[in-house]
Amino acid sequence: MSESTPALDPVRVAADLARRVGVRATQGEPMAKHTTMRVGGPADLFVTAHNGFELRGLVRFARARGLPYLLLGRGSDLVVSDDGVRGLVIAVRAETTRIEGDRYSAEAGVPMARAATETQKAGLSGLEYGLAIPGTVGGAVWANAGAHGGETAAILESATLLLADGSEAVVGASELGFRYRHSRLKDNPSELVLGASFRLARADAATIAARLDDIRRWRREHQPLGLPSAGSVFRNPPGDSAGRIIDNLGLKGRRIGGVVVSEKHANFIVNDRQGTASDIRRLVEAVRAEVRDRLGIELALEIEFAGDWSAWTPEEPA
Ligand SMILES: Cc1cc2nc3c(=O)[nH]c(=O)nc-3n(C[C@H](O)[C@H](O)[C@H](O)COP(=O)(O)OP(=O)(O)OC[C@H]3O[C@@H](n4cnc5c(N)ncnc54)[C@H](O)[C@@H]3O)c2cc1C
Repeated sequence: MSESTPALDPVRVAADLARRVGVRATQGEPMAKHTTMRVGGPADLFVTAHNGFELRGLVRFARARGLPYLLLGRGSDLVVSDDGVRGLVIAVRAETTRIEGDRYSAEAGVPMARAATETQKAGLSGLEYGLAIPGTVGGAVWANAGAHGGETAAILESATLLLADGSEAVVGASELGFRYRHSRLKDNPSELVLGASFRLARADAATIAARLDDIRRWRREHQPLGLPSAGSVFRNPPGDSAGRIIDNLGLKGRRIGGVVVSEKHANFIVNDRQGTASDIRRLVEAVRAEVRDRLGIELALEIEFAGDWSAWTPEEPA
């Protein structure tokens, strides 16, 4: 989405954005401020969509001009290049929610943790796993995010999509191509999530609150939550766990520059010494090569490398 390098006049485009969409754009915004890995260089232009109207307007603006754009939730699954992002980064902060009966509707920018606590208070069960996902509703649909026995596909009734042709459609869960950590949105980057509707089950609010406490406790014990990361780096191969495989090869503590394979959870890479996106990518490739060479297993990525990686090479600089 943001790999190509168009001739962009940021001052002119920013002025156009203000005039036509009514949104202020920032030039050179460091993406490290907007990703949980705390890495990523400058975006040519960075804008925030505070509501669905602005989100639609920004995407249509970019598409009409052939301007590359990157949709950003909370940046919790992304490693953005040190060279930054060419074109427009659109941070999705449309955060309206509604509860009607046992249905919870949320705009794409709603944090999953807020969805979990809001539905708990309303005595609705099903979104508890959201407490474990430091991303947005849009990002959770994109990834079919899941944890603690729950996943998005299991409770999603429908998602409102902005389609490639600019039209909108309410699409049922069965049409979203859900499978393990995958939805059709990963195959179609020109489709995006505007909002989602979840069908939940009535339950005792105190019982759900206790479940949320269990999830909080489990994550504190098992994940390196105090350090910047992007969650699990690799997908679990069928019938196995990427963390177990990496741990068994003794790769916990393997370091490149400022980033290291977590001692607490082998499928996490943490940025503990102001590492770079380049450090992360090199460490990811080193772990992947070692697993391939020693076990013949090809680990697939769960995180996404985003932005301009055109000048990156796997070799360390001299
Ligand atoms: C500490 C930690 C723990 C984690 N634990 C889990 C876990 O247990 N289970 C799990 O599944 N994941 C986990 N994750 C990964 C991550 O939180 C999820 O993948 C999450 O769904 C990403 O959402 P986001 O809003 O941050 O997306 P971003 O990282 O901002 O974006 C990811 C991709 O989604 C696209 N995107 C974002 N919003 C939209 C939208 N509205 N429409 C279309 N595309 C969109 C972006 O363009 C990008 O390609 C964890 C991450 C961290 C840091």
